[in-house]
Amino acid sequence: MCGVVGIISQNRPAAAELYDSLIHLQHRGQDAAGIITADTRFHTKKGVGLVRDIFDEQNMARLLGLAGLGHTRYPTAGGYDRENAQPVWTGVPYGIAMAHNGNLVNYTELVKELSEKDLRHLNATVDVEVILHVFAGALEKQNHDESSFFEKICQAVDEVFERISGAYSVVSVIIGKGMVVFRDPHGIRPLAKGMRINSDGTKDYIFSSETTMFYALGFQQFGFVHPGEVIYISPEGGVQSKILRKEEFSPCIFEYVYFSRPDTMVNDISVYRSRLHMGENLARRWKERYPDIIPDIVIPAPSTANTAALSAAHFLGVRYSEGLYKNPFIGRTFIMPGQTQRKRSIKYKLVPQELEIRDKKVMIVDDSIVRGNTSREIVRMVRDFGARAVYFVSACPPVISPCFYGVDMPSRGELIASQKTVEEIRQFMNVDVLLYQDIQDLKEAVLRKSNHAIESPCMACLDGHYVTGDITIEKMRDLEHQRNQERKA
Ligand code: SF4
Repeated sequence: MCGVVGIISQNRPAAAELYDSLIHLQHRGQDAAGIITADTRFHTKKGVGLVRDIFDEQNMARLLGLAGLGHTRYPTAGGYDRENAQPVWTGVPYGIAMAHNGNLVNYTELVKELSEKDLRHLNATVDVEVILHVFAGALEKQNHDESSFFEKICQAVDEVFERISGAYSVVSVIIGKGMVVFRDPHGIRPLAKGMRINSDGTKDYIFSSETTMFYALGFQQFGFVHPGEVIYISPEGGVQSKILRKEEFSPCIFEYVYFSRPDTMVNDISVYRSRLHMGENLARRWKERYPDIIPDIVIPAPSTANTAALSAAHFLGVRYSEGLYKNPFIGRTFIMPGQTQRKRSIKYKLVPQELEIRDKKVMIVDDSIVRGNTSREIVRMVRDFGARAVYFVSACPPVISPCFYGVDMPSRGELIASQKTVEEIRQFMNVDVLLYQDIQDLKEAVLRKSNHAIESPCMACLDGHYVTGDITIEKMRDLEHQRNQERKA
């Protein structure tokens, strides 16, 4: 998972607004970040680490131009070095820069094809390079065509759709031509769009993984980039768009469970509201299955689970307690590379409040249980501080399959629910009761709002049904192996 943003303005330099946007997208990736801006050439700054540590007054001053792209990286393909930070660019044709959020299923095959057949040089191991070269190659082929530039763009994106399988929400800038954005035909990863009307009547546009920065920058959201859609913004602000392919709209349900910030709209659905519904559905199931077990307090595993816990406590009629204090200066454990680093950070990150916990029957609400280690550590801390009983409820059903569409759930061996039964997990976590959200309850929680366009959200990590239809058992083994090798390297 990553955060992407593209801004094209008529009169404001893009760099400062891209920086502000990346600060708002930092939670989507803390491994690396980059900004590229364009005037008559590209200006780039990329680095490893947090946005605030990479950019300073001096390097920002070099980022000239009214259009540009930004990216925060959370690696699900490629190594952990600066070479794999985005955006990336190529000089032919025109000069095209690109960033994306997602993960490609047929990356390895495409790398081979691009270098052997298309004679393209790939400089890093990041999958956006593949999208860039397929797109650039397809655009270059039409150099002498009479068709309009938008028609050429459509042809090029159509070739991307034809050749590339997986999740990709793409923002791109072309020197002298403007901005191009597109989203894979299933719309797996989010891509919101916003517009701002300047005092002289001209219009600026923003495309971003989340809407979190729209208000601060003065943009109004107007929907999202549709699955299989391409949008072209000319340097003068003219807009053309077309839906090139229509598959079942299957956006990632994990965006609502964990990844997106609660104050964002994803595919026109409020993440905050969906988490309230998750808590409500959990409380209803709890009352059905354990009518005689009434906790004294409900504590979220902060912060993603706060909203679901608040609502679960409300519907159970139990006091909500911030019994685990979260140090805000430690990053999100789930997206930290490496298990050791993740484990160590949990104790630094969370401090139990003894007065809230001692002698109480504590219900802990967490957003999900992926590897199980974070959850077990939290339970251990709560027991250390004198809880009389510990109940653990997960807003997400058991995660049983890897994600190949951009979330770091790399192999079945690492997913606790793929290896153990619910009862075995309960014992492993040392809790008195363990309750997972039902799959249908999760789906209902996200889709409760009636006027959305989602047909069937991707829940492959929960039900093993991969929406791109090309994840065979052999393919799964290959991808798991490949990812594990990359992590070792
Ligand atoms: Fe999201 Fe899971 Fe689908 Fe990956 S497999 S895109 S995490 S729902």
